[in-house]
Amino acid sequence: MSNRQLFLQHVATTSDYPISLEIERAEGIYMYSPEGKKYIDLVSGVSVSNLGHGHPRVRQAVKDQVDKYMHLMVYGEFIETPQVKLAKLLVDNLPDKLNSVYFVNSGSEANEGAIKLAKRYTGRSEIVHFKNAYHGSTHGALSVLGDEEMKNAYRPLLPDIRQIEFDNIEDLQKITHKTACVILEPIQSEAGFIIPSQEFLDTLRKRCDETGALLIFDEVQMGFGRTGKLFAFEHFNVIPDILTLAKAMGAGMPIGAFISEKGILDSFKSNPMLGHITTFGGHPVSCAAALAGLEVLLEDKIIDDVNRKGELFISLLKDHPLIKGFRNKGLFIAVNVESQEIMLEVMKHAYELGIVMDPFLFYPGAFRIAPPLVITDEEIHEACALLIQAMDAVNI
Ligand code: PMP
Repeated sequence: MSNRQLFLQHVATTSDYPISLEIERAEGIYMYSPEGKKYIDLVSGVSVSNLGHGHPRVRQAVKDQVDKYMHLMVYGEFIETPQVKLAKLLVDNLPDKLNSVYFVNSGSEANEGAIKLAKRYTGRSEIVHFKNAYHGSTHGALSVLGDEEMKNAYRPLLPDIRQIEFDNIEDLQKITHKTACVILEPIQSEAGFIIPSQEFLDTLRKRCDETGALLIFDEVQMGFGRTGKLFAFEHFNVIPDILTLAKAMGAGMPIGAFISEKGILDSFKSNPMLGHITTFGGHPVSCAAALAGLEVLLEDKIIDDVNRKGELFISLLKDHPLIKGFRNKGLFIAVNVESQEIMLEVMKHAYELGIVMDPFLFYPGAFRIAPPLVITDEEIHEACALLIQAMDAVNI
């Protein structure tokens, strides 16, 4: 049996969507099938491979750490050098109050931890979240999913959940002294890249300060340079009480974190203890990869060029008649087309031509362009030429 047949038979997935593309190796922005067909990665494994596939410094860091040790003890029990160095580099690049890092395995777990921490710190239970938000697939993260219908099969979920409208200033009055935390992405990704007004985020920060609710920014998808700043909240200068990270953090290895003030994180240690326990959270090999990845991102000044590259994509694509507009910042571009049907057709043709893209969970009339940040101008021209060919092939 071929790998494809074995995959379809024995590897469980959550939908029929997987394109079942077999990849043998990947380097930079390219992925190669066993037959040698080349695919351009315009998704970055959903905002993960910001440094491209197999960055040499990240690969070396992983190899070096594997030779030293892989797993010692449940996270936090031993002092592991890659964790310590990574925590220091992260907090050095964050506002002063985000000075303590709790390492976990994934974005969902980071948000679970952040919500638990807020409940623990405030002694409150209500969680406010936003329509069309995605924060992960575990039960806590699902409770703050911004689509009531999608949640139905999993109810009962967490109690005391209040959903409000994104970028709606009046709705922020629904945050009260009962609210433990408010969780959101400062720029909503799966809703089709919604950038809120400065006033909305300023009012949100103020409302959280007035009520004592903790503000959680989920930068699992937007963090690590994707929007042209290291973190998306820097565009607005609104600082959260808890920041959650994952995806690109590990430069291809699984890791996540929630970061807050030491005084807030210390509330996990009060009695009764059970704070957040995670066996593999902050795995030393993942931390070594993350450390090397963040060093490369900063030392090579990769983020400085992200806006210009995003604009280059737009200037090359904007005149195509299928395109109805863009929503973008940096190298995260939502490309609007007339309908979901057209979006799916574009994606199908693009895939045949060797381009991998992705739709949005809550925004059917657009496809996303989010390539590795290291993509060169030449590669952008190559990708756009193929994309235009794919759009030309649509016949609806
Ligand atoms: N938050 C956001 C904004 C995400 O985009 C995702 C993943 N798509 C998650 C949380 C969940 O991350 P993970 O899949 O690593 O659990």
